[in-house]
Amino acid sequence: MTPDPIHTLADLDTWSFPGTALAVLGHPIKHSVSPPMHNAALAVMTNSDPRFASWKYFRFDIAPEDLPVALAKFHACGFQGLNLTVPHKIIAFDRVAAIDPAAQPIGAVNTLRRTAAGWHGYNTDGYGLAAAIREDLGRELSGSHVLLLGAGGAARSAAVECIQRGCASLTILNRTPKAMDQLIELVSTLDAKVPLRGLALDDLSTIPAGSLVINATSAGLKPEDPLPLNLKSIARPAGVYDMIYNPPETALLAQARALGIPCANGLGMLVHQGARALEIWSGAAVPVDAMRAAVHSAMKTHA
Ligand code: NDP
Repeated sequence: MTPDPIHTLADLDTWSFPGTALAVLGHPIKHSVSPPMHNAALAVMTNSDPRFASWKYFRFDIAPEDLPVALAKFHACGFQGLNLTVPHKIIAFDRVAAIDPAAQPIGAVNTLRRTAAGWHGYNTDGYGLAAAIREDLGRELSGSHVLLLGAGGAARSAAVECIQRGCASLTILNRTPKAMDQLIELVSTLDAKVPLRGLALDDLSTIPAGSLVINATSAGLKPEDPLPLNLKSIARPAGVYDMIYNPPETALLAQARALGIPCANGLGMLVHQGARALEIWSGAAVPVDAMRAAVHSAMKTHA
C-alpha cells in the first residue's frame, strides 16, 4: 500500500479537495499512524452513512512558527477537523476561538473542530488514557492510587484526567523537580479532595501497594534510555501503563512483564484519543475496532 503523502503549508495555497477534509499537523509527522487509523474508520462508517464516503484524513508537516498562519489557512480551506501533535498542542491553545471547558486546565489541545467563528479546541488525550487503562488493564482511574511519571504535556493531560475522574491519590515523580512542582501547582486548584504530592526518587517507600503506574515520560523511546522508575523499588503495583507505543515494549514494560505485573503500551490510548476526536468531528458512532486494526497493521510497516 502506498503511504499517504506528506503535505506542507504551501499545498494549502492550491488546496482543492472536493470532500470533507481532516488532517493531523505535526513536526515531524512522518511516523504518524493517524491517517491510516482515521481513514479505516471512515471506510467502515461509510457502510452505514454514505456521507462519510467523501471524508478523508490527511497529514501535514507544519513547523511551529507557521502554526498560526496554518490554522487560518486550514479554516479558510474548509477543513472540518484537525489533530495536533508534537510540538503544536500548547502553541495552539491561545490561538483558537474557543476551548472546551474540560481542556481548559490542561492548557493544551490535540483536537480542533471547525465552527463558523474559528477553531474550537478539545483535548482527547486524557479520555484516551482512561479508556485504554480500562480496556487493557481492567482498571479505572477513579478510585485508583496513581503514580504518574513525568511532568511534560502528556503528563499534564493525565494528571488533569486523574483528578477529574476522582483518583484516590495522585503522586507525581519527575526527573526535573521544577517541572514537577509546576504541574502540581497547576492541578492543585482542580479538586482539593484528591491527595496530591510530588515525590523524590529516594522516597519511593511511601507509594501504596496496588497503585497504578503511568509512564508519561519519553524515557523508553530510545534503547539507551534509563528506566523512568525501577519497579522493584516500590510496593507491588496493580498495573503499569506506558504511553509509549513505539517501541512496543519499553524497558519499563519488560520489567513489569518479568515481574508478572499487568501492563500495556500506549497504542490503546492512541486509538481511543483518535476515536473521540472522530466522534467530535462527525457526531457519529466510531468503529474503534477498525481503528485498532489499522494501527496494528500500520505499526508493522513502520517497524
Ligand atoms: P514532553 O517532552 O512534554 O515531556 C517529556 C517528559 O519526559 C518530561 O517529564 C521529561 O522530564 C521526561 N523525560 C525525558 N527524558 C527522560 C529521561 N531520560 N529520564 C526520565 N525522564 C525523562 O513529552 P510529552 O509529554 O508530549 O510526551 C511524553 C511521552 O508520551 C512521549 O513518549 C510520547 O510519545 C507519549 N505520548 C503518547 C500518547 C499516546 O497516545 N499513546 C499521547 C501523547 C504522548 P524533564 O522534565 O526532567 O525533562
